[in-house]
Amino acid sequence: MLSAARYSSTTVVVGSGLAGLTTTLQLLKKGVRVVLVEKTDTLGGNSIKASSGINGVPTRHQHNGDTVGAFYEDTLRAGKGLCNHDLVWELASRSQWAHNWLASQNIDLSRVALLGGHSYARTHRGAGRMPPGVAIVLALCKQLQSYPSSQLQVMKQSRVALLVVHDGAVTGVAVERSHERVELVDVHSVVLATGGYGADAQLLGEHRPDLVDFPLTNGCQTTGDGHKLAVRDAGAKLVQMDQVQVHPTGFVDVADTNNSWKFLCGEVVRGVGAILVSPETGLRFVNELDTRDAVTEALLAHCRSRTAVILASASDYLQAQAHMDFYMLKGLVHRGTVADLVRLLTQQGLACADEATFTATIENYAKCVATATDPLGRTQFGSSDFSGEYYYGLVTPVVHFSMGGVAIDTQGRVLRENGSAVPNLYAAGEVSGGVHGGNRLGGSSLLECVVFGKIVSESIVRLAKAS
Ligand SMILES: Cc1cc2nc3c(=O)[nH]c(=O)nc-3n(C[C@H](O)[C@H](O)[C@H](O)COP(=O)(O)OP(=O)(O)OC[C@H]3O[C@@H](n4cnc5c(N)ncnc54)[C@H](O)[C@@H]3O)c2cc1C
Repeated sequence: MLSAARYSSTTVVVGSGLAGLTTTLQLLKKGVRVVLVEKTDTLGGNSIKASSGINGVPTRHQHNGDTVGAFYEDTLRAGKGLCNHDLVWELASRSQWAHNWLASQNIDLSRVALLGGHSYARTHRGAGRMPPGVAIVLALCKQLQSYPSSQLQVMKQSRVALLVVHDGAVTGVAVERSHERVELVDVHSVVLATGGYGADAQLLGEHRPDLVDFPLTNGCQTTGDGHKLAVRDAGAKLVQMDQVQVHPTGFVDVADTNNSWKFLCGEVVRGVGAILVSPETGLRFVNELDTRDAVTEALLAHCRSRTAVILASASDYLQAQAHMDFYMLKGLVHRGTVADLVRLLTQQGLACADEATFTATIENYAKCVATATDPLGRTQFGSSDFSGEYYYGLVTPVVHFSMGGVAIDTQGRVLRENGSAVPNLYAAGEVSGGVHGGNRLGGSSLLECVVFGKIVSESIVRLAKAS
């Protein structure tokens, strides 16, 4: 059944992850009517899964001399020359605002960690047990409830299947839900906040066929809908679609090794001190806090069967206890001795070094920590106390994040091949491309959602005032 409804002066936000939620709330605050369309039955997308935190510089929880300039430079360096400098500047320079806004929503982000590729600790999470993605999404969803239905309509289990375009300008969307197809026409603007394409065999096969058989952390809804809609219906340009982040540490669940979906071992675990060890050599093989692409490359080179051991001391465990306890509950992290670790590896049929080699590796690393010198180049360490039992699990590289995406400018407008903006069409969050270039820094995706959600809302309000 097809029905059409006029939605003049209304913005349609497609996708309810952090980018969609931020855009929606910022627009509502300015008095704009919003229809938020989400194809699954819950709000939050992949954003709700975020476990390490969100970057911000400088914030009142940092006391380390970090600057916007340092964050900007780190992002460009990690992106291997492929970042759009203007977009990165927006990301870094507005990060303090992002934190202040989240704090104003009563979200605790008081714990700060150093993640790979960052020159300062700047990735924030809460002090409690709730992972940052859950804490942020739940708080923002609660805010949505304070708006009347005359200003906000939330459509769940509703998939945007088409952008309605007239004379090159986006004027509406077609939404499919259960057995009906609804056209929202005459809208003011449309915001694509549909996330990445890590779970889409077609886009991945086209742009990164080498990754099609990798496991992934993304939910099955991560199918690049916004990318496809923007290109097919609005003639938008896609950039750097071959830039897909493979995160080095997806957990191998020893009770379910063949499942292609993996739980992420948050980077914060390495951030507080955990090391990576090759099962077959029993040796460390990389600076665990190098960028994700470098750690992944080293893991693939040093670990046959693409599996490494991640191991934390009892002292380091305490620094990430909420994460570790959760992983233990899920059977992904185990507590035990080196003998227990070797037994686990053997049970898994992995080629495995002997106990003495693993023990020597741990002792050598404890000396590195004590002297703050590491032949592999690590400069930030956890505790040097490696006595007692360890906390360990098995990890493997996983498809995690789409760096490439829909081309946007610094106002969040979607761009065509010729560089012109598609009237009334915006994009924010993982659907857009160019911010992270060849490698995203941990904690920068949540930040991108908040910063560019805000930017897009500003552009829409500006346009509304002008017209
Ligand atoms: C396990 C995991 C841990 C992570 N940890 C961190 C972290 O600690 N820090 C960090 O910065 N980043 C982290 N990330 C990355 C980050 O969570 C995401 O990249 C980011 O949140 C993307 O947000 P988004 O709003 O752009 O998209 P999403 O949160 O993915 O939301 C997109 C939404 O759009 C909906 N949608 C898609 N197509 C349609 C359609 N056609 N119609 C209607 N709705 C549609 C989807 O169903 C989804 O709900 C993590 C990612 C994962 C998977």
